[in-house]
Amino acid sequence: MIPQDYYDIIIVGAGPAGSTAATYAAKNGASVLLIDKKKDIGTPLQCGGFLPHYEELQALIPDAELPFTLENYPADCVLTTTNYQRFISPNGDSKGFEVNADALDRRRFDKYLAKEAVKAGAELLVGTNVKSINGTTIEADGIFGKFTFNSKVIIGADGPNSMVARSKGLIGEPDPMGMATALEYELTGVNVDTNAVEMYFGRDYVPGGYAWIISQGGDSANIGVGIRNALCEKGVSVRDYLHRFMYEHPVASEKLKNGKIVSVISGLVPVGGSPKVTATEDTLIVGDAAGHLIATNGGGIPTAMVAGKIAGETAAEFIAGKCALTDYEKRWRAQIGLEIKTALYVRKLMDGLMRSDAMMSSAVKMISSEHMKSLQRGRLPDPVKKTLLGMNMGFA
Ligand SMILES: Cc1cc2nc3c(=O)[nH]c(=O)nc-3n(C[C@H](O)[C@H](O)[C@H](O)COP(=O)(O)OP(=O)(O)OC[C@H]3O[C@@H](n4cnc5c(N)ncnc54)[C@H](O)[C@@H]3O)c2cc1C
Repeated sequence: MIPQDYYDIIIVGAGPAGSTAATYAAKNGASVLLIDKKKDIGTPLQCGGFLPHYEELQALIPDAELPFTLENYPADCVLTTTNYQRFISPNGDSKGFEVNADALDRRRFDKYLAKEAVKAGAELLVGTNVKSINGTTIEADGIFGKFTFNSKVIIGADGPNSMVARSKGLIGEPDPMGMATALEYELTGVNVDTNAVEMYFGRDYVPGGYAWIISQGGDSANIGVGIRNALCEKGVSVRDYLHRFMYEHPVASEKLKNGKIVSVISGLVPVGGSPKVTATEDTLIVGDAAGHLIATNGGGIPTAMVAGKIAGETAAEFIAGKCALTDYEKRWRAQIGLEIKTALYVRKLMDGLMRSDAMMSSAVKMISSEHMKSLQRGRLPDPVKKTLLGMNMGFA
């Protein structure tokens, strides 16, 4: 494959955001190059793979136009299906609500999305690292050689700590609590509830975050911890916290302690919200690169894909002379801005509560299952706001 040296749109990163952007940009007539440094799209895996079903997503982000790929992904991308989400307090009490969701095989899912982009007409270049960006010129280097590409638009879909965002100055306010570190294992030989996804809270196991058990069907599960370094005990690593959770947690260890580790997965989760500016006259940022994540739970697949669709469509319209590239900004904020902003606000309130296990346990007790579901959806019902603000006064 010999790529051309010019494309209307170059997209850096073939994760959910980038592949979706490429699909919609190519469908709308632009010439598109999608570049990823991974030799094998989707690998290494950096995700738990929890994805609510299409109908749930319509309720979760009601103003969003969902890409078709969130509805019609192949059955072999799904490891198992769950119908319950359970929260376990630091004191061991639990509460939950019904939710229809898949545990995805992200390796397959990401490949499926990249193939859809190719089907739509995008050029895909794997194993190629974008090293630098100067205006709309990209220098890249990888297994197929060194390249210089020119374009009219660059879309940065290159994940947390985006190189595109940094090189264009599209970064938010510094926030020491705005980045979570996640470590997870795929385990076999566990004895978990195959119908539920579980989220555990407690300072000793997951300071400033939560631990999860996502069944992958049968005796397999993805388990992990997402923590904030600013709240960790000195000298205790993220691996120490994951092992504490797996082997010592009074509820979880009974299910996990005999598990054997099949793979180790780590990554960053940007929970600091979106920067004020995500579009310039020649560049857009999208997905994790733009903080398109629900900060309360770190879920970012659907929001990355919704914003990816908007980025791809807007960039193609811009190429056709039908809109300004910066229209992207108001378009994505109109579709998913409220949920991202509300989730960030709630995350900040929860940060206060998470400093105390007793407070966190009371919060889980006081908030009804229905309201918990709303919180997960990036909504903040008034009674919950009152409760959280009241409880937070002790930490103000
Ligand atoms: C441990 C963990 C568990 C998670 N679990 C869930 C979950 O269960 N459900 C959920 O919804 N979300 C989850 N998330 C969040 C979710 O994975 C992300 O929100 C989602 O992947 C964002 O998609 P993206 O396309 O923006 O970025 P990414 O998926 O990170 O894709 C970015 C791509 O850019 C490429 N790239 C980066 N730099 C360059 C470069 N210089 N040159 C070329 N390519 C480059 C990378 O190789 C990568 O393929 C989890 C995150 C982590 C870390």
